Amino acid sequence: MTLRRHGIRDTRVLQAMEETPREMFVEAAFRDQAWADTALPIACGQTISQPYIVAYMTEQLEVTPTSRVLEVGTGSGYQAAVLARLARRVYTIERHRDLLEQAKRRFAALRLSNIETRVGDGHRGWPEAAPFDRIIVTAAAAHPPAALLDQLAEDGVMVIPLDAGAMHQELVRIRRTPGGFSRERLIPVRFVPMLKGVGRRGKRG
Ligand code: SAH
Repeated sequence: MTLRRHGIRDTRVLQAMEETPREMFVEAAFRDQAWADTALPIACGQTISQPYIVAYMTEQLEVTPTSRVLEVGTGSGYQAAVLARLARRVYTIERHRDLLEQAKRRFAALRLSNIETRVGDGHRGWPEAAPFDRIIVTAAAAHPPAALLDQLAEDGVMVIPLDAGAMHQELVRIRRTPGGFSRERLIPVRFVPMLKGVGRRGKRG
């Protein structure tokens, strides 16, 4: 794997990635490409992020063994599975029920028992389980959703891809400070859009 060469230094993140069999999270037709450093299609017209982006976002999220983490956009479940090895508990929301059901089967097969899942619109967050020490959004939004900012704990960190002009997005890290929020721009990225409401069966997007 080339993650080290690409500058991923956090050994806990590298180990969590090594322990998570990416081939279980991709479609059978793409299994031979599972570790290629590229995004791959999954069901419902969505994608699993390339390994480097998963590693980078995980590193920038500064997860600790006591962290309670919210993920918006479960997709294949791969990012959640990596986070589950680093955090105390992961709460993950997906708007497509079919994707979530598949992801849940993978979590069970890997005996990852510290992941809670829900079908829903991530714009609303997960109020009953808030506040979260860490929030990771894996679909692109125009602005950080207000409910997610509300549900970020004091000193909490959120990593989210935000629209930055036509066809451009940048990964942004938001920290909750005693006086409000601070923002840092990280790297340019490309994610599928964060959509409103829950997905309809058989429909892409
Ligand atoms: N983290 C995933 C990749 C996510 S792709 C992985 O590791 O495989 C983005 C996902 O976000 C898609 O599955 C899409 O259906 C979902 N999504 C988009 N908008 C959403 C929303 N408002 N709430 C919840 N999930 C959303």
